[in-house]
Amino acid sequence: MIDTQKSLPAAPQIIPRPEHSISRANISRNALKVLYRLKDGGYQAFLVGGSVRDLLLGRHPKDFDIATDARPEEVRALFNNSRLIGRRFRLAHVRFGREVIEVATFRGGQDQQQASEHHQVAKTTGRVLRDNVYGTLEEDVWRRDFTANALYYNIADFSIYDFTGGMDDVRGRRLRLIGAPEQRYREDPVRMLRAARFAAKLGFDIDPDTTAPIPGLANLIDGVPPARLFDEFGKLFQAGFALESFRYLSRLGLLEHLFPSTAAWLADDRGETRRGFVESALQNTDQRVAVGKPVTPMFLFGVFLWGPVSERADALVASDGLTEVQALVAAASQLVAEQNQRITLPKRFSYPMREVLQIQPRFERRRGSRAQNLLSHRHFRAAYDLMMLRVVLGEVDDDTAAWWTKVQTLTAAEQRREFGIHRRRKPRRRVPTPSIGSP
Ligand code: ATP
Ligand code: MG
Repeated sequence: MIDTQKSLPAAPQIIPRPEHSISRANISRNALKVLYRLKDGGYQAFLVGGSVRDLLLGRHPKDFDIATDARPEEVRALFNNSRLIGRRFRLAHVRFGREVIEVATFRGGQDQQQASEHHQVAKTTGRVLRDNVYGTLEEDVWRRDFTANALYYNIADFSIYDFTGGMDDVRGRRLRLIGAPEQRYREDPVRMLRAARFAAKLGFDIDPDTTAPIPGLANLIDGVPPARLFDEFGKLFQAGFALESFRYLSRLGLLEHLFPSTAAWLADDRGETRRGFVESALQNTDQRVAVGKPVTPMFLFGVFLWGPVSERADALVASDGLTEVQALVAAASQLVAEQNQRITLPKRFSYPMREVLQIQPRFERRRGSRAQNLLSHRHFRAAYDLMMLRVVLGEVDDDTAAWWTKVQTLTAAEQRREFGIHRRRKPRRRVPTPSIGSP
């Protein structure tokens, strides 16, 4: 195996077509079109990243990314259906209906020292701030994160270029960072989240050297822009392996930097029930994804924040003498503001999420028209799902949960009976008989 920490081999191992399992039949037709047109234009063109990895694993790639020595403007010129995006690093997006093929020009490799001489690395943190430098294939490889993500499928002869031992690691189902792990995490702390994500998604083991620095560097996540972390949240928790992602993030000490209040609430666990509450929600989410149902970050943020919000609300009732509802409203708004310091939750999600939390006490009342109106609340479904999970926490009894489950299946008349609503007979209005003509 190649020791990437010491010697960086200049020459790749080239795996010819007969010795690997990637077939063009499994590559998107549009990606092939782009690869061939680049090649015919005289450029190098490779399929890279997750698609090569997933094809080798027999998985269906989410998207197909391409790397080339053509400059973005040159790619733009080859494809009418393309546009250039990105300021930090310019890429071409080639669009075919709903499918977008991302074409990136090889990036230049700069070692730490060169980089800081060019003031492109923040001196104290080592984080790469600007890197708009094009390079060669050989340089591009070393900028990638994991060996399994650094395999290049060459459209010129259908071979795979492996500079980092990625083939071995894919076969051994190992996630291994390229280069010196600590330095790679300092350059971009999101790589720690990516380690958790790929291990969860692919069922790979994280190499011990790749795992070791994470707990000690986890606090670098605090410096990542909250909007970028919202993107990462989606990739970790809305792609069908949320439960495994959560377990990796917890074990690696990363969760407390994404959801500090939730991690503190979980640390104060009683008999693992709190963890059970969060994990059931994540499991439900994974099941929804598995059958193609939509999932919204609004609900999972609600689950993550429910514990801290209800705890804060209890404290506010005790200290400020607020009513239960007032306290929940105040606590939700405080915790959303705190959470937003870490991960930006767009308002279109945080507004409904707060409602879902705030209406929880309404499930305690089963009589009257206000109780009945809860059924037609626009976020009833999410609020009901959260209420059902709260059974695990011992906050809702089985009887209440079963009643709200049943009542949704009843006819309108049966529902009125359940809610104890008697239709008030409208008093008949006597139509005064005209007295014209009468004596
Ligand atoms: P997925 O299947 O989830 O899309 P992916 O491996 O394609 O996984 P992307 O985030 O789409 O992941 O990135 C594409 C490729 O770009 C990666 O495989 C990796 O080679 C490289 N890459 C992405 N983000 C980073 C990063 N933060 N540091 C280094 N390389 C990265
Ligand atoms: Mg990808």
